Amino acid sequence: MGRSRFVDHMPRAAMPDFPHLASLRRARHIAVFTGAGMSAESGIPTFRERMTGLWARTDPMEVATPRAFRADPQRVWDWHVNVAAAVRNARPNAGHRAIAALAAGGRRVSVVTQNIDGLHQAAGSEAVVELHGNLFRLKPFVDEDAAFAAPEPPVICGVCDGYAAWERCDHFATREDLAGLVLAAGAVPRCPCCGALLRPDVVWFEEMLDPLVLDAAMAAVDGCEALICVGSSLEVEPAASLPWRALRRGVPVLEINPQATALSAHVVSLRGRAAELLPSLILDLAG
Ligand code: NAD
Repeated sequence: MGRSRFVDHMPRAAMPDFPHLASLRRARHIAVFTGAGMSAESGIPTFRERMTGLWARTDPMEVATPRAFRADPQRVWDWHVNVAAAVRNARPNAGHRAIAALAAGGRRVSVVTQNIDGLHQAAGSEAVVELHGNLFRLKPFVDEDAAFAAPEPPVICGVCDGYAAWERCDHFATREDLAGLVLAAGAVPRCPCCGALLRPDVVWFEEMLDPLVLDAAMAAVDGCEALICVGSSLEVEPAASLPWRALRRGVPVLEINPQATALSAHVVSLRGRAAELLPSLILDLAG
């Protein structure tokens, strides 16, 4: 998205001056760390609002763990299909668009998000690290427990990269066949080559983050000259440590959140909503 188009649609409210504003303006590389609050104004409830929102009817702990998938793949799949139905209709809000526009004019912007909704990319952000994956991508279900218990080391499927199930082996299947599969109602899909069950490419409870993805997030935080933290309660590790990592390095950190977090007392914390505050802030930084 070009800067002029973005600025045309910006609210003209000026950003009040605050400590670090000058450092933010000067920063040639800004990292933006986002959580569920970033997408709240796109109509996606935050995790903490789960008892009243998207997550209300089922405890995610019961349907978003490897254990749950092993026990009942169809139930876990159906729950994700329901969540995806609500998330699929969501559109980026003014905050997502403002972050995308921040990169115009040559400044480097790294977005590190805990969100699985793809809205930063939909808004036009390019360098996005999805710490917790993406609801709309699939990957093979890798059953580590079964693999460790098996007498032989597992065979790795050349198409899905998972532990091959060989329930229906099609030697002519390709990665393109796999790429065509989507999160949709119906039976849990399987790898067209080896028959392994497929699952959404998100990080479930009791799972580790992909180390390469975490490395990319740490590299963005370690290389930035300023960090903006938006809409995260900072209660989910290891993601929550990332703003602290920047702060320890002496990098200016700005938080945007209607509620105080553990970070708030240590940084400049603006109390307000992402879609309201980010356009004014970024209009200021882009100027
Ligand atoms: P969280 O639900 O724990 O916290 C949300 C935070 O957003 C709170 O601090 C809240 O005060 C703040 N907030 C609410 N409305 C806001 C607004 N309009 N603008 C700015 N901030 C606002 O979220 P979390 O810290 O991201 O952790 C929850 C986990 O659940 C994450 O791992 C994430 O992957 C997942 N999740 C993702 C989505 C999504 O993809 N959109 C939605 C819900 C949960």
